[in-house]
Amino acid sequence: MRGAIFDHNGLALRDDLELREPEAGEVVVRIHAAGVCHSDSKILSGATAYPLPVVLGHEGAGVIEAVGPGVSSVGIGDHVVLHTLRACGLCAACASGLPTRCRQSLGVIDAPFRMAGVAVNQFANTSVFVERTLVREGQVVRIDASLPMPVAALLGCGVITGTGAVFNRARVRPGDSVVVVGVGGVGLNALQAARISGASQIVAVDTNASKAQIAQQFGATEFVHVRDSVAADVLDVVHGGADHVIVCIGSAPLVRLAVDLLAPGGQAVIVGFPGGGAQASFDMATLYQEKSILACRYGSSSPQRDVPFLARLYAEGRLMLDELVTRTMPLEQVSDAFAAMATGDTDARSVLMLA
Ligand SMILES: [Zn+2]
Ligand SMILES: [Zn+2]
Repeated sequence: MRGAIFDHNGLALRDDLELREPEAGEVVVRIHAAGVCHSDSKILSGATAYPLPVVLGHEGAGVIEAVGPGVSSVGIGDHVVLHTLRACGLCAACASGLPTRCRQSLGVIDAPFRMAGVAVNQFANTSVFVERTLVREGQVVRIDASLPMPVAALLGCGVITGTGAVFNRARVRPGDSVVVVGVGGVGLNALQAARISGASQIVAVDTNASKAQIAQQFGATEFVHVRDSVAADVLDVVHGGADHVIVCIGSAPLVRLAVDLLAPGGQAVIVGFPGGGAQASFDMATLYQEKSILACRYGSSSPQRDVPFLARLYAEGRLMLDELVTRTMPLEQVSDAFAAMATGDTDARSVLMLA
């Protein structure tokens, strides 16, 4: 089958990939649409170390093609969104509906693919730049067949991460003030979740002035184009401090910025993470008035709960998803999709179509 492989020679399209048969509790998904995310590009650039070769992509949707023994929650022909949390489902965190805190959900890399006799690794427990992939039953969420596949694909990473930061981690309430730092695929979703939550002031912050229009389209009440005096510019707009600052870019200095932007009792939610070893520093006194720094993995989501919720918001016309898809392209143009991302002018997402 066809797929995009990344190894020490670079990114290449192959048509000789094989997928092993599903074992107990596993399902095979025929991928229809796959979003191209910054986490994929970080593997290409070497910013994130990963064992190679690997099939990239982790934001996908498709149709169940085969199921292993004992699978009962989904069946062949079901439309599904894939998600990356291979949580155990049994520990205290999972039982509390917090699978992002499951200790077993990190660190194990499966290799369900083979190419010319060599095992090929899975990325983020999913791998979706390929015609078919294999995941645990709990990693697919059934969706209505009327949900367009490009839109469904985005639910699996950018949308659940950005909206979850606001709904699940920050728990923004009506009347709150929210600053979103970084207007990309995740930041736009944080903006629209803040709007849906009833935030009174929603400030989008970006170094690219051309993001102002789309930020406002997704719910920003103000846009701050930052250059040097970032904190001062934003503090002016939020009248001395915000209830929530959502940091959607992986940058240690932005953690300091987020703390500086908080009102008393405010909380900084860190969604973007730089690579290992990055050190953040700030004046501890600035936290004194009961301010918090909250890390947020994958939108602090519980995908089996959140994906249907987000799909319903979309069906009701309250969550903008079509507008997030900048362009669709065939799998063969995967390199072009990464090139577009590298230029930084993509407001949202390129989505690869595989079926
Ligand atoms: Zn668990
Ligand atoms: Zn992603």
